[in-house]
Amino acid sequence: MRIDIVTIFPEYFGVLDVSLLGRAREDGILDVQVHDLRAFTHDRHRTVDDKPYGGGAGMVMKPEPWGEALDAILDLDATAGEVDARLPPRDAPLVIFPSPAGEVFTQAMARELSTAGHLVFGCGRYEGIDQRVFEYAGSRASVRLVSLGDYVLNGGEVAVMAMIEAIGRLIPGVIGNPESLVEESHEDGLLEYPSYTKPAEWRGYEVPPVLMGGNHGAIATWRRDAQLERTRLVRPDLLPPE
Ligand code: SAM
Repeated sequence: MRIDIVTIFPEYFGVLDVSLLGRAREDGILDVQVHDLRAFTHDRHRTVDDKPYGGGAGMVMKPEPWGEALDAILDLDATAGEVDARLPPRDAPLVIFPSPAGEVFTQAMARELSTAGHLVFGCGRYEGIDQRVFEYAGSRASVRLVSLGDYVLNGGEVAVMAMIEAIGRLIPGVIGNPESLVEESHEDGLLEYPSYTKPAEWRGYEVPPVLMGGNHGAIATWRRDAQLERTRLVRPDLLPPE
């Protein structure tokens, strides 16, 4: 998968060099390119924001640098010669703008996006991006506004990191044992059961005996019951109506 990120803080994405995503990049499974929005400005101060029309507090990201950045990234799709030969051919790009006003990011969305060939993320800052940028992007590619949740961050970078991590770990080859993805929270609509490892007793706390008995049917039943109980207590909204 090819991922392009546009941001005024490229250094935020240094963490993509480490851990499983770092290895996926080394292995050619993920091709991540980070673009500094200020590289697409033409004034001495490399200005990316201005006062909002109509007044009000805060600044709005100007459309011109965004237009040039999107053109540069999306035009690359038209000249596929620059693509890393180890990667699958690119398909139609999807542009994602993180926004608290967008549709809420879910595990189902992460799974859907993990099959995409090319994702472009545009990180907003200040009061957000001039609305016309979304319209222009939509004239060139599919566009989605995606929210991490019902709260407001200072910028899109953290939201994009979270999305890339959730999407990236679902791409075949990124996680060593794909079976570990199957039984996780939100995969079957429930929260995951509690996990334990050695020692069997630690500081007076014991592992539930059923997990050490070797009866796989009983273990499966215990885990299912624990999933239902945890979901009922913490996230009853996830349970189907009775
Ligand atoms: N004025 C905007 C509003 O009320 O909808 C909030 C702007 S916020 C301070 C700046 C940027 O942070 C946004 O453009 C977006 O990129 C990002 N952001 C903030 N909260 C977010 C969330 N819950 N999910 C995804 N991105 C978020």
